[in-house]
Amino acid sequence: RAKREGKGGLRFFESAMDEEAQKRRQMELDLHDAMREGQLFLMFQPLFDLGKGRVSAFEALMRWQHPERGLISPVDFIPLAEDTGLIVPMGAWAIREACRAARQWPDHVRVAVNVSAVQFRNPGLNTVVMQALAESGLAPDRLELEITESLFIDNVEGVLASLHSLRALGVRVALDDFGTGYSSLSYLRSFPFDKIKIDRSFIIDLLSSDGATAIIKSITTLADALGMETTAEGVENVGQLDILREQGCSHIQGFYFSRPLPEGAIAELFAEERARAAA
Ligand code: C2E
Ligand code: MG
Ligand code: MG
Ligand code: MG
Repeated sequence: RAKREGKGGLRFFESAMDEEAQKRRQMELDLHDAMREGQLFLMFQPLFDLGKGRVSAFEALMRWQHPERGLISPVDFIPLAEDTGLIVPMGAWAIREACRAARQWPDHVRVAVNVSAVQFRNPGLNTVVMQALAESGLAPDRLELEITESLFIDNVEGVLASLHSLRALGVRVALDDFGTGYSSLSYLRSFPFDKIKIDRSFIIDLLSSDGATAIIKSITTLADALGMETTAEGVENVGQLDILREQGCSHIQGFYFSRPLPEGAIAELFAEERARAAA
């Protein structure tokens, strides 16, 4: 009797696994159609320059409007896109689309685009960036590519060479989610990033832990000394903002200032900014 139950349990477990695997397979197939069918789109979240008191950039964040499942988060579909290699054309599309959008904005406003490790290792990235810039007419230093520390897991020499060749195109490079991965100060010495984005996990802890404040302070001090900007990710309240300002963080991004916006809402944000400046 016990044995029968055990078997039933196992069968249940196996079919649950099957279901997961099948769902994943179906999502992969769907993702193939997504780009062609125009189901992918970008949202844009502003980065606010605390010194200048204005928006300095928008980060392009990918979304998938699935015909049956509804809106899917990049946390759920980017890993699939990486495993299948689809991230390469998807990422190229994001870079082109972001440059096209940024071309409509004031000249001092940049666009930041996330570049995954798989995409970064693809030799076509330079050409994609060059073509997106040429096609849109966007000045190269208005495009900022966000990469993460996970890139440096292996082939550091190769990664550095690719970073330098991207930089040679005139684009900016930011180190995203700083402090979460294989954080090593040696990357900061090896490549002159334009910006360090301090991971949201440190910002969450700001109001409850003195340690978090000390970490922010040391990152901003280091960044200053190296001539890099800092952006705090995931700022959700004024308490966090006050500490970040005190500790010398140069930019903030987060729901406190603004959630990611559809492209069509951006003109309004600039209009409000102009009205404030004139008042
Ligand atoms: P990320 O690059 O670190 O982007 C920041 C994420 O934090 C975004 O999530 C953003 O919506 C979220 N966020 C911003 N402010 C707040 C806040 O105040 N509170 C909270 N709780 N969250 C906040 P999102 O859009 O879901 O993107 C998640 C991740 O997916 C991104 O993390 C990035 O790693 C990846 N991703 C998004 N778009 C792309 C893309 O086009 N290409 C690639 N390769 N990855 C992308
Ligand atoms: Mg990012
Ligand atoms: Mg980030
Ligand atoms: Mg993050």
